[in-house]
Amino acid sequence: MRSTRASQAVLALFAAQPDAVLSEADVERSLLAQGIVVNRVTVYRLLNKLHAGGVLQRSVDAGRVARYLRAAADGGTPLPRFECDGCHQQIRLAGHQDQLQTALQALRQELQAAGHAELRLDLAVRGRCAGCADPSAHAA
Ligand SMILES: [Zn+2]
Repeated sequence: MRSTRASQAVLALFAAQPDAVLSEADVERSLLAQGIVVNRVTVYRLLNKLHAGGVLQRSVDAGRVARYLRAAADGGTPLPRFECDGCHQQIRLAGHQDQLQTALQALRQELQAAGHAELRLDLAVRGRCAGCADPSAHAA
């Protein structure tokens, strides 16, 4: 079935780019590039299903575009994301993971110590990405 093939392709897409943060349009484009013709509704349904199943995390950017990224394998604290105000691309912070996790854990512990419960961290850093901050430095 077409939807099964599309669903496998979507999973493969996120598996191949573990740090990718993709919108529905990004996913649709990648599938088309692989010769898999899907309509927007099918892709939205698939992404929603994967999100509901805990496979993908969803975040909505400042432009109200939903983007998806692979959920943390252990269901633990998701790593912070960086979102560019200029082009709205999202980058998952992948470097210095240990230090970031330690910092996030400290934040969580502080809130827990204050008696707060059912904490859900969803950190996003906003700014301008390297390409938008200085386009000339990154022109091909
Ligand atoms: Zn940018």
